[in-house]
Amino acid sequence: MSDDRIPTLAELCAAKGMRMTEQRRVIATVLEDASDAHPDVEELYRRASAIDPRISISTVYRTVKLFEDAGMIERHDFRDGRSRYETVPEEHHDHLIDLRTGHVIEFRNEEIEALQEFIAKRLGYKLVDHRLELYGVPLEKPVPGEAGDRDGDGTD
Ligand SMILES: [Zn+2]
Repeated sequence: MSDDRIPTLAELCAAKGMRMTEQRRVIATVLEDASDAHPDVEELYRRASAIDPRISISTVYRTVKLFEDAGMIERHDFRDGRSRYETVPEEHHDHLIDLRTGHVIEFRNEEIEALQEFIAKRLGYKLVDHRLELYGVPLEKPVPGEAGDRDGDGTD
C-alpha cells in the first residue's frame, strides 16, 4: 500500500491471503464503523444481521476470532465478562471505563506514555506495547475539561 491511510480489514484480509466472503465483509464493515464503541459479539451480531439476516451469531464469533488471531483487531476485557473489539487504531490510546454505565472513554496522555517507557527502560527493557485501563465512577461534580470530557467542551 503506497499511501499512509490505515488499510481496511478487507485489504488486510487480501494481503494475508484470507478468503473474504460476503458475510465476513459485512462483519468487517460493522467492526470498522463501530470501532470506537468497542462492541461485543452480541452488538456486532445485532448490527451485522440488520444488514444481512443470514449472518448467524456463530459466524460473528468465528469471524471475530479469525480477525483477532490474524492481529487485525484488538480484544479487550473490561471486567464486565464480555470481550469487546476494536480495529487496531492508527494511534495508540488507553481506556477509561465508567463502572456505572460501562461506557468506554478513549484517551492518550504523553506523560503516561513517556513514564511507561522510562520504567521499562529502567528495568532493562525496550517497551513494545502496553495496555492501561482506568476504572472509575463519575465525580459528583465533573471538573470542566477533565472528567469524562475528552475535548474539554463540557460534554462527553
Ligand atoms: Zn479504544
